Amino acid sequence: MLDTRELGRRPGTQRTKSTSVEAPAGLGIDVLGVPEGSTVDLDLRLEAVMEGVLVTGTATADLEGQCVRCLEPIDERITVDLQELFVYDDDHGAPRGDDEDADVSRLEGDLLDLEPLLRDAVVLALPYQPLCRDDCPGLCVECGARLADDPDHGHEDPIDPRWAALGEVAVAQEVPADRPQD
Ligand SMILES: [Zn+2]
Ligand SMILES: [Zn+2]
Repeated sequence: MLDTRELGRRPGTQRTKSTSVEAPAGLGIDVLGVPEGSTVDLDLRLEAVMEGVLVTGTATADLEGQCVRCLEPIDERITVDLQELFVYDDDHGAPRGDDEDADVSRLEGDLLDLEPLLRDAVVLALPYQPLCRDDCPGLCVECGARLADDPDHGHEDPIDPRWAALGEVAVAQEVPADRPQD
C-alpha cells in the first residue's frame, strides 16, 4: 500500500518515490517467478490528475525458476514497466455496478494498492516457456541427461521399436470430433 496523502489532489502535482517492498506470494507463473518475501525495488512517479492518481515507473526484482527443457535453475533479474491510473474513491461505501468498474483501479482513501498492478506487469513480462538459454537443447529423451552439458551425447541403440509403435497409436487416435463413428 502506498500513501498518496502528501501528493495532494491538485492536478499536475507530481512526486517521485523510490521504495522497496516484499514480494507477495505467487508473483509469477508456476515455472518462473519472484520468490515470496524477496525485495522488489520500485521507482515510481505519482501524478495527481483530475480523476485520480497516475502511477508510472518500474519494478525490479529477482526471478527464480526452472528451464522448461532441461530443468536447470534460472536465476535472473527483471525490470518491468508499471503504469496505472488509480481513480479517487469518493463514493466510498456506495453501491456500484459489479461489472462496470471491474477493470478500474481505485484508491482506498489515500492509499493505493500496487499489488495487482505489480502482479499483472510481472506475469506479462515472463516468458511462457522459460529457458536457461535460447538454444537449450533440453534433455536426452532416452536417458534424461542434460544435453547442454554433453553435446556429443548419444546412444548406440535406437529407440525401442515398441515405444515407437506406441507413439503412432497415440497419433492415430486423434480423430476429428465431427467424424461419424462406425
Ligand atoms: Zn535449459
Ligand atoms: Zn541419453
